[in-house]
This record gives sequence, structure tokens and C-alpha cells, in this order.
Amino acid sequence: MTTVARLAPFATTIFAEMSQLAVEHDAINLGQGFPDTDGPQSMLDAARAAIADGQNQYPPGPGIPALRQAVADHQSRRLGIDYDPDTEVLITVGATEAIAAAVVGLVEPGHEVVLIEPFYDAYAAATAMAGAFRSTVPLVADGDGFVLDRDALATTITDSTAMVIVNSPHNPTGTVLSDDDLAAIADACIRHDVIVLSDEVYEHLVFDGRPHATIAALPGMAERTLRVSSAAKTFNVTGWKVGWISGPARLIAAARTAKQFMSYVGSGPFQPAIAHALDHEMEWVDASCAALERKRDLLSGALREVGFDVHRTEGTFFVCADPRPLGYTDGEQLCRDLPARIGVAAVPVSAFVDRRDNWSHLVRFAFAKRDEVLVEGAERLRALRR
Ligand SMILES: *Cc1c(COP(=O)(O)O)cnc(C)c1O
Repeated sequence: MTTVARLAPFATTIFAEMSQLAVEHDAINLGQGFPDTDGPQSMLDAARAAIADGQNQYPPGPGIPALRQAVADHQSRRLGIDYDPDTEVLITVGATEAIAAAVVGLVEPGHEVVLIEPFYDAYAAATAMAGAFRSTVPLVADGDGFVLDRDALATTITDSTAMVIVNSPHNPTGTVLSDDDLAAIADACIRHDVIVLSDEVYEHLVFDGRPHATIAALPGMAERTLRVSSAAKTFNVTGWKVGWISGPARLIAAARTAKQFMSYVGSGPFQPAIAHALDHEMEWVDASCAALERKRDLLSGALREVGFDVHRTEGTFFVCADPRPLGYTDGEQLCRDLPARIGVAAVPVSAFVDRRDNWSHLVRFAFAKRDEVLVEGAERLRALRR
């Protein structure tokens, strides 16, 4: 083994393993969370035009001015928060780099990062890269949904916490944190002088007419919150890797310092295309959200019909289902078996946790797929019916 000890636990990901099994068994891949249709045509055309126009060299370090302006305008319009596009917005190589740069640029080795469990794997990896350690505050079941464990929040966030990473809408559970939960996190972070990294890549995928709420807008939070978003999930371009991070200039400067030596810059010709999309294609985004809401209902309904206990999904691409009524208690084992057995791939929620006890049964399915793919997936899942 030559990988350094702090990164060795991250050597393989369950997502790669499940996608590999999906390919081997020609399975419907409801594991990995990427859409299988393209984003708005005018955005795709803008990227082609940028390449034809010769925008193929290093873009400016913080991102092209048109995209930083579009990101600032978009947040001002939607969330009522005004960021200075020159000092308070940084374009990154996807949200992934934004997260890594913020953690590496702001958290000292040996300091503590608090995650909400289950957590997206990149948070744990970025924390390890910084030489920091993680503690977790769990979500707990509440009816058919999830809420934050407030008691754990109160004891976990302390004066020795450097950063809390919040993710709402939440991957993998599809939970949208309530205003009360966001306020409780904000209170704790203000009381203990903690920086908040708020991963809002699913900000446009909140269902049932609910508006997106950001912790950055709560009183006292703008000065301590870095808000991360990305074109990937909003415009169906997970392969373009255009993300951004917004917040107070001193926090952005820290993330920029790290980012300069991660990728330096990226996604040159895609940046003007995303600027165009943020300025002109929000109707496409609204229609996409409505379509995903329908897909959520389609897949949730199918899973329920098969006999899963299905959790409520309030946003994102994902629905979590409990297979115990079907006789399966180990979600990871079930996910390893499914591709060969019935030709469907999914991901165990245990891949997103440190403490498995409450999560070992759950399975995450992605519904950001064409209807015919979902219908075929549902058909295959019926083979599990008792
Ligand atoms: C997909 C995803 C990301 C990564 O976004 P990129 O822009 O592709 O890097 C970050 N956070 C969450 C919660 C995600 O689901």
C-alpha cells in the first residue's frame, strides 16, 4: 500500500463499484446520480460557439467576468443576497473543487469539520486532505422523512469546531432541511464562531412548490457562510465541471488560494455557456424541476408497489427506500446482488455514513433518468416482489 494513510480509506468508491457491476450485467443504472438527457439547447450552442470563437486558453483565475456577474445576478434575483462578482464569487472546477478548496484553504490540520450524516463522500475526503478530522450530526427518521438530530447538534458543534458542512437539498436522502433546522445550525455556528460551507448544488431541484432556503440568508450568517453551487445538476451538465462559491471576500480569498494550485482554472469554453444559461434559461430549469418531480413520483410509486418502505423525497435526484419489508436487512449486500439478479443498480446509504447502525438497510435510487428507463427499471424491480 503506497497511498498515504489519511487518504487510504478513500481509495475506491462504492459508486464506481456499482457502476462497474451495472455495466457488467447490462443493468439499468439507478445508482449514480447523473441525468441521461441534455440541458438547454442554447447553452450547448453557446459552448460550441465559444470553442469556434477561440475561447480555448486559460480563463482568468477567478473565472470569466461574465460568469461571475451572472452568478452574482442570479443570487441577487433569487435569494436577495448581493455578492460582489469581483471579490465574493469564485468559479471552480465543479462544486467538488469548491468544497476541497474551501476546506483546504480554511481548516487547519488537526481541526474539526462537522458533517451532517449521511454525508456526500467528497466532504470526508476534503477533510482528510486538509489533515483535519470529522465529526457528524445525524439525520433521524421523522415520519417518512428525516430531520436533524438537534441534541447531537448541540453537543457536537463546540468552540473547537472550525467548519460545518451543510447540504440542503440533501444527497443521499432527498431531505430539504426545515427552516427550524437551518436556524438551529445557524445559532450554533454563531455561538461558537464557526464557518459554514453550504453545498446547495440541488438548489433548483426543490419539489412541491417549496422555495429554496439558504442558510446564508439567515441573520448573522452572510459573514460566515460560503455558498457552493454548480451547473452540473441545474443544467444537466455533470461532465462540464463548472461550479462556484460565494461568500465574504476574506473566506473567498482563502478558497482561491487553495484552488489556484489544485486546477488553477478549468472549463474555459463552458464558462460563457453557463453564464448564458444562468441569464436566459431559468424557464428550462423550472420545467426540468417539474419533470423530475414527476419522475420522483413514478419511481417512488414503483418502489412502494414492489413492497419497499419509501422515504419522502423533497428535492434532489434521489429516493431512499427501505427493503426490510421484502426481507432484506443489509442494503449493501442487496446492492451488490441487484445487478446480476434483476439487472438494476442502486447505491447503499451505508456508503455515506460513519455509524452504520441506523443506515445499513437503506438503499438510494436515482430518478433523473428518461421515463422509459425508469419504467424498465420499475418492471425489473417487480421481480423482488414477494
Ligand atoms: C453532484 C454533487 C456535487 C458535485 O458537483 P460537481 O459540480 O459535479 O463537482 C457536490 N455535492 C453534492 C451533494 C452532489 O450531489
